[in-house]
Amino acid sequence: MAGRIVVIGSNMIDLVTYARRMPERGETLEAERFQSGFGGKGANQAVAAALLGSEVAMIGRVGDDDFATGTLANFARHGIDATHVVRVPGVASGVAPILVEPGGENRILIAPGANAHLLPKDLLPARGLVEGAALAIFQLEIRTETVLAGLEMARKAGVATLLNPAPAPDAPLPEGMLGLVDHLVLNQSELAILSGLAPDAEIDVIDSANGLLARGVGRVVVTLGARGARLVGPEGVAVIAPVPVTALDTTGAGDAFIGAFAHFLVSGSPLETALAAASRYAALSVTRPGTQSSYADRASFARFSA
Ligand code: ADP
Repeated sequence: MAGRIVVIGSNMIDLVTYARRMPERGETLEAERFQSGFGGKGANQAVAAALLGSEVAMIGRVGDDDFATGTLANFARHGIDATHVVRVPGVASGVAPILVEPGGENRILIAPGANAHLLPKDLLPARGLVEGAALAIFQLEIRTETVLAGLEMARKAGVATLLNPAPAPDAPLPEGMLGLVDHLVLNQSELAILSGLAPDAEIDVIDSANGLLARGVGRVVVTLGARGARLVGPEGVAVIAPVPVTALDTTGAGDAFIGAFAHFLVSGSPLETALAAASRYAALSVTRPGTQSSYADRASFARFSA
């Protein structure tokens, strides 16, 4: 039987406004269209894995508002165990107001709200979920100290760990954190930042990934957008081929990739097979609009793969 996935991470409501142009300071403009959607890197990854059929539990925080009701209902709809996604009194849910211009150029603000209220001590009541999982997944949209405590809890229990260091931290990660990570999955700009460089620096992906292995990571998966991904581990380097598609909307592609990778990994696929399937799942997601709304379920992924 496939093992359970636990995601210790964020949830947000994306508030997306499509405008003809950005308003100037002090200006009020009428927008063309508005759409809200369920987001947050943790929730996205949990939803992708659940849609593919994995048993998924989420540990997180929501606020004291209607967004929280929607988020909890969204977890329930996907069969995700949200027993440990708790409301924080007097605090707003995490939101991401996004302004999109006609060319697709966007400006994003993230107000973490309740996500910042998940403290290391809050993991103790959820200890059973972590210790009974086959894989524990983390991102950096919650407090770093909580991520560190979760990684320690998982490692002590012999549970495999996956860290997606996104958004890339503006301060160095705590000493020893990378040594607790079995699978580090990140995109090229996150790799540059973790290597101490500017996000758009020209980097040698393999050299930089090897630098992270030297800092204690088990293996590194670098996603490269339309160029696929690279697996860099103690066994060497493997190229994960892209699946050619006509991209419509690439938001959330990285989260689709991680959720699918996690699903295939706990289902018993060998590493490179799980990564190839993740690349295919993420490619399908970029052909569809939205973030979670672009994630395929098991049946439509099977049709795409046939
Ligand atoms: P992020 O969304 O975190 O920036 P990437 O842009 O690297 O991550 O995308 C994650 C994965 O999604 C890629 O490794 C690839 O498998 C898939 N992907 C993204 N964009 C495309 C594309 N245009 N065509 C095919 N696959 C894509």
